[in-house]
Amino acid sequence: MKYIDDFRRNDLAQKLARGIAAAVQPGRDYQLMEFCGGHTHAIFRYGVQDLMPSNVHYVHGPGCPVCVLPIGRVDLAIALARQNLILCTYGDLLRVPGSGRTSLLKAKAEGADVRMVYSTQDALHIARANPQRQVVFFAIGFETTTPPSAVALKQAKAEGLSNFSLVCNHVLTPAAIHGILHTPLPGQLAIDGLLGPSHVSTVIGTQPYVPLAQTYAKPIVISGFEPLDVMQASLMLIRQINQGRHEVENEYTRAVSAEGNRKALALVAEVFELRPSFEWRGLGRLPDSALQIRPEYAEFDAERRFDLPQQPAEEVKGCDCPSILRGIKRPSDCKLFGSVCTPDNPMGSCMVSSEGACAAYWTYGRFRQEAA
Ligand code: SF4
Repeated sequence: MKYIDDFRRNDLAQKLARGIAAAVQPGRDYQLMEFCGGHTHAIFRYGVQDLMPSNVHYVHGPGCPVCVLPIGRVDLAIALARQNLILCTYGDLLRVPGSGRTSLLKAKAEGADVRMVYSTQDALHIARANPQRQVVFFAIGFETTTPPSAVALKQAKAEGLSNFSLVCNHVLTPAAIHGILHTPLPGQLAIDGLLGPSHVSTVIGTQPYVPLAQTYAKPIVISGFEPLDVMQASLMLIRQINQGRHEVENEYTRAVSAEGNRKALALVAEVFELRPSFEWRGLGRLPDSALQIRPEYAEFDAERRFDLPQQPAEEVKGCDCPSILRGIKRPSDCKLFGSVCTPDNPMGSCMVSSEGACAAYWTYGRFRQEAA
């Protein structure tokens, strides 16, 4: 653990804090969007915001894969689970409320065969063990979780596993950044720079961010998830902002390269193709922002194999998740936060997910704010 501890050292954090305090220009604000929910949690868990000068602000972004899934797709998962098959997915998704405040967990309580898995390999294992049942893996996530889905479909094809299929909800980070910067909504803060995601960037590298930084004149610094990573990346952003530069820089050099993981990218390109349009919670419908299964793997595409009702979805009344995911509001602005909506009784995805901004506020920030 020594390696991780080095990225949490208090003396180095204090030194970086002094460097940031010396670098910021008085009289101007720095709005830094942390794209990724992992950064949000690091900022709260380690008190990074408290080490920042008062004119450096973190704006929470849409980088939580569970949070950005629109209610319509949650409804689709629930409808599938009720079709007498085995529906497998990751744990966080089970508790996300769909229309009418139902959820996969409630469908399971009513008798649907919903199973929480830790990996695509678990889902494949369930399919092999239940040859008489259809097994559907409801896949979500950014570029980090897409390669394992590609591997699973290749394995299923190689084995002739005819009872396995996948619903593809894999989404693309650069398209989401484009969606935020291209059409700012009323009330959306002017973002001065972005902390780029770390895990996603280990797969796609730094190059896909270059056109975004140039087009929108915003610096982007790829940052690791440890507190010193976030502070160092913030300092790099502040320096760029001061100098009027808008480049892609890489703070997370120990894991991220310019070109990314070519093997993983080739795997993904073999199995998936761009989906012309996909709905995001908070960002609306974005072109070329998600993936779908290629025709060569159509037999494993649950969206082609099953009859999936497309009904209009109902947002939970009063839930501000869409605005939070866009940086328009903070969790504490939501009237339901901490009263009706808690991790034990979530009203929206941002309170459910382990990367959600509302969950971060509740876990690390709420009580401190109350005491202040
Ligand atoms: S506190 Fe709950 S209801 Fe409010 S935005 Fe967050 S998840 Fe939605």
